Amino acid sequence: MTATIIDGKAFAAHLKEDVARKVAILKKDHNLTPGLAVVLVGEDPASQVYVRNKNKSTVAAGMKSFEFLMEDTVSEAELIEKVKELNNDPSVHGILVQLPLPKHINEAAVIETISPEKDVDGFHVINSGLLATGGKGMVPCTPLGCLMMLKDVLGNLSGLDAVVVGRSNIVGKPMAQLLLNESCTVTIAHSRTKNLPEVVGRADIVVAAVGVPELVKGDWIKKGATVIDVGINRIEKDDGKTKLVGDVEFASAVNRAGAITPVPGGVGPMTIAVLLQNTVTAACRQNGIDEPA
Ligand code: NAD
Repeated sequence: MTATIIDGKAFAAHLKEDVARKVAILKKDHNLTPGLAVVLVGEDPASQVYVRNKNKSTVAAGMKSFEFLMEDTVSEAELIEKVKELNNDPSVHGILVQLPLPKHINEAAVIETISPEKDVDGFHVINSGLLATGGKGMVPCTPLGCLMMLKDVLGNLSGLDAVVVGRSNIVGKPMAQLLLNESCTVTIAHSRTKNLPEVVGRADIVVAAVGVPELVKGDWIKKGATVIDVGINRIEKDDGKTKLVGDVEFASAVNRAGAITPVPGGVGPMTIAVLLQNTVTAACRQNGIDEPA
């Protein structure tokens, strides 16, 4: 058996086209241009690449992009002041503070300052609370992208056994919550889980968000299961060059799964596309407009 490869790049391209279509309608019918502000502190090269890509994709979708680059010596108070300014700016509908922040800044304090309606990353406690209680908040981009792909592959998820490996606030927990909201029977596995292979082997849906290269082996996976690999790990090959691998051992998993996301080209491209979609949703809600269908 060889799994269907879930093409995250193509999926993200469709979603971005759909976002651009909605933006065009909002501009024409409501004179509304959704705006996304991204704040980057410091010069971490990976974060700089993410921010550049977000900016390019935002502009390509016809939205306004605001970029704020701050020195890594910026104080927590100055950063919070910037977030408050963006909260009060009506042309900004989404605010994203690129994580991680330098150690002298309390990340939670900064995230809690973002107005929940503009928190397009969905990390604010109000938004986690709304997700947990079935409310209408902003949902974190990466897990929401995973859910979209799962529904595309499987249709109705009700009653399926899902295992999420990883319990971070930004991926594992919201992913589990989203699957629970779809009426899956959800298990959250983590670094203290006993007998992980057996736990994974029960699942119709496996979502791996661990950060350990190729942790989940093919022979752990139930035949025909759908596997979503969130991990992005850079490892060194025998020839000294580096390559990206996921948290799932793709070469063996592809022979067991029914469908699987590759790394790269699976979950990664979806995250930015969902961020743009979240910004459109935020802009509509803030202006009391029904989101274009
Ligand atoms: P994290 O470090 O915050 O959390 C990792 C989780 O994995 C923890 O809950 C921990 O308990 C669990 N874990 C660690 N070792 C384990 C083990 N041996 N067995 C079982 N569980 C174990 O990581 P995160 O922010 O959730 O990210 C996870 C991975 O997803 C990383 O590789 C990250 O780069 C990637 N990621 C990708 C995207 C994307 O857009 N594709 C977005 C966010 C994160």
